[in-house]
Order: sequence, then structure tokens, then C-alpha cells
Amino acid sequence: MIIDCHGHYTTEPKELHDFRQRQIAGVKDPAQTPSAAPKISDDQIRDSLENAQLKLQRQRGTDFTIFSPRASGMGHHIGDAGVSLRWSQICNELIHRVCTLYPKNFIGVCQLPQSPGVEPATCIGELERCVKEYGFVGCNLNPDPSGGYWTTPPLTDRWWYPLYEKMVELDVTAMIHVSASCNPAFHTTGAHYINADTTAFMQLIMSDLFKDFPTLKFVIPHGGGAVPFHWGRYRGLALNNKRPPFEELVLKNVYFDTCVYHLPGIELLTKVVPVDNILFASEMVGAVKGIDPQTGFDFDDTKRYIDQLSFLSENDRWKIFEGNARKVYSRLAARLDKAAA
Ligand SMILES: [Zn+2]
Repeated sequence: MIIDCHGHYTTEPKELHDFRQRQIAGVKDPAQTPSAAPKISDDQIRDSLENAQLKLQRQRGTDFTIFSPRASGMGHHIGDAGVSLRWSQICNELIHRVCTLYPKNFIGVCQLPQSPGVEPATCIGELERCVKEYGFVGCNLNPDPSGGYWTTPPLTDRWWYPLYEKMVELDVTAMIHVSASCNPAFHTTGAHYINADTTAFMQLIMSDLFKDFPTLKFVIPHGGGAVPFHWGRYRGLALNNKRPPFEELVLKNVYFDTCVYHLPGIELLTKVVPVDNILFASEMVGAVKGIDPQTGFDFDDTKRYIDQLSFLSENDRWKIFEGNARKVYSRLAARLDKAAA
């Protein structure tokens, strides 16, 4: 089985975007705030996926996607916590409907109703609802709800602890994932995403967070940002700061995905980061669109790169494609085992 641990619903029906535009207009002019949730039929949801995720799953030979709302659309910096909560609930419900219509193709991960300056503890209710009512297996955790201004304490600060306590209790994993940048210096997917991945890792190696939460699990997406390329720098910085070796410090808790859109990058990732810490992912559809003229295949067809790694053993390949996802998302493993029984 091939499990893609990082997919977003980026082909949502237009009604969702219309709702959001009105909701954003309502931040300045409350009269514009939509009173009802967007009306979207099951057929609209099917249509939105048949020519996108489902077609690509079939074409590329992947089986299952851990699926969450569009990350750049989370927009935690827009409006207040109430706006963020309503938007998160609507996006999460839509993911739940996708997963209910296609239980063999998708399992859900939720968007959290974060808001700049507001304690992450306020996200516990929505996380718990999504896990207990919808069967979701994780959340996307935004380390910078300000959208590129980094006004929030680091992920290792006690500010975040109540949310981590709930994650541990529910046995769910967070992908550390920012949303759109509203800082013109940072392009959203080209700079802000990669900066955040790198920043989160540096925060984690400087702290004892995983002593306080030995079973807490994070996935750092986009191949870990700059981390694998600069693994020596980070190991050296850890040593300089008298931090324990990575095996003790982070490697039981922190995982990297394979959303790196060229073969040399995947070669580097899989040579540098232990295979036990790498999960297959593509972030399809749309983080980087289109065909790479050098290969003739889509940039985000990441399975092809892994298939080309001759130095991986069959067991290593299984870990990247399936085994590690089962280990990191234990609720997913339970679901798959139940379906197979
Ligand atoms: Zn993403």
C-alpha cells in the first residue's frame, strides 16, 4: 500500500471560496458575513475530486491520502478567533464529507482554529471534535498564525502545551504547516513554507520538548525545508549547545515528508535523514503545478523519484511508502487494520 501523508483539498467547489470571500469581507463590514454555511452537494464533491486527486492517485499508483483543507487557505491571520473557528469548522466538515464518500482513498487531518495572539488551548475543542466525531488522525499546526510576521512564541514554549497534552491524549500527529504569507518579503509556498519547516526544526533541537512529551509526534513537510541539506550545520549547532544526539533529541518524535520536487533532492533526503523518519508525500494538487520539462513528468509526482532510488532496500521502500505512516499515525493504522480484517 502506498500512503501519501500530505494532500490538501485544493479543488474545492466554488461555493466554498464564495463563502470565504464573504466571510473576509465581513471582517470589515459585518453585514457581509454569510449567515449560512456554503451549500455543496455530494455530486459537487465527487466532481471536484474525480479529475484531481482520485485521477492522480490512479495514474501515479498511490492508494491512500491523508487529506486536509487547503493549507494556504487556512488564513489564521484573517479576522479574529471566531472567524478562524467558523472557517475551520466548515473546511473540516468538507474534508469529513470527502473521507465519508471515499473511505478507501482518504482519511482526514484537520485545520485548527488558530488566531494570532490567541492561546492554542482554544483549538482543543475543534481538534477533539474532528478526531472523535470525524475519525481524523491528525492536525495541521501553524507555527506562525500571523502569516509571516512570527509574533507567536516558539513551538517549544509552554504556550503550546495544553494543545500538545490533548494531542497526546487523543494519539494524533501534527504536521507543522504554515498558511499563506501576508508579508510581501515571503512568497507563500516558495519561501514562507520552507522557512517555517526549517525554523520549527531549529526550535525543536534547542528545547527539551520531547522530554515533557515523549510520545508527541510532528511531521515536518516539504522535505524538512533546508534541514536535510544542512544536516551537518544542525548537528553541529546541537553539539555546540551541548544538546544530546539527534537519536535522543528528535528522531523518536520528528518525521519528514518527501515533498521535494526533483530526484537529487530526494536522494539527499533519503541518504541524510534516517529512513525510519521519512514518510511518502506529494502535496498534490497544486503546491507546484505542471510538468518538469527536464523529466517530462509532473514536479509533484514524487513516487517516481523514490522508485528510482536503487540504494533503498525493499524494506526501506516499504517504510517510506507505508510502514512509517502506520507508525506515525496510529489511528490510521488502526483504521487500515480494521478495514483489512
Ligand atoms: Zn501542504
